[in-house]
Amino acid sequence: MKKLLVSTLAAVVLGFGIGGDATPAFAEEQAAPKSNILTMAAVWKQTAAEYRALYYQGFNIAQKYVDEAVAKHKKKHKPLAVITDVDDTVAIHDRYWAHLIAGGEEFFDDPVWDKYIPTNSLLPAPGALDFLNHCKEKGVEVFYVTSRDQGEGTYEMALENLQKLGFPYADREHLTVLVDTSNKEPRQKEIAEKFDVVVKLGDSLNDFQRKYYIKGDFEERNAMTAADKDLFGTQYIIMPNPTDGQWIAAIFGQSEPEDTAANRALWHKTATRNQWEGK
Ligand SMILES: [Mg+2]
Repeated sequence: MKKLLVSTLAAVVLGFGIGGDATPAFAEEQAAPKSNILTMAAVWKQTAAEYRALYYQGFNIAQKYVDEAVAKHKKKHKPLAVITDVDDTVAIHDRYWAHLIAGGEEFFDDPVWDKYIPTNSLLPAPGALDFLNHCKEKGVEVFYVTSRDQGEGTYEMALENLQKLGFPYADREHLTVLVDTSNKEPRQKEIAEKFDVVVKLGDSLNDFQRKYYIKGDFEERNAMTAADKDLFGTQYIIMPNPTDGQWIAAIFGQSEPEDTAANRALWHKTATRNQWEGK
């Protein structure tokens, strides 16, 4: 209870909001915001029915494979499991983006993210609770493998996030938090030794295979994706994330680039590639 009170107070003080209103109150006191390059992506996340439909689509496909695996499962087989990423896969961060943009921040802001995480202001992704509970009802274990670093207490904060969201299997056995690396493959292989993994869910291709952890070369990443096309919607369930992830690093060389003139120029150059040549 004390923890809840502290988290609630922290959320209110930081302006991340509690309850249904995703817009922090202090937004109205700000001058006209600067144009964070990710504003349109954040608006899409906060409003588009299509964004929500993509989550439902992903979880519906995953559930189909879960049900098929359960129907075919024999006692002599390894138990069934799914492996999921957390951020932007089963939990979404509308309140963080609203806060960041209302505060006039540019691009990304790690210190703001680190303040946001312990406030438990994240929300379940559309359809996530139903899917995860369905897995539990069918006896399919859910393993959460996430990469986060908020310093001391990183693990406890992540665990509390999952528990506050009401997710099943929100315990130490099922949650792995990678702090020093974002390479999920070793942990995923450990899980696969004991479980028959039905599907993996993620919002970044790195959530499926480490080879996608490419910086500064989106063409190579796209070529790999084309080569692996049969894995999507079968073994890998990909969720939408237009604000952050390895796709940003594939452009800028880092996943949280600074707001510099050079980076804005690169952003513009990237947007204008493949330009229509018509007059
Ligand atoms: Mg993620």
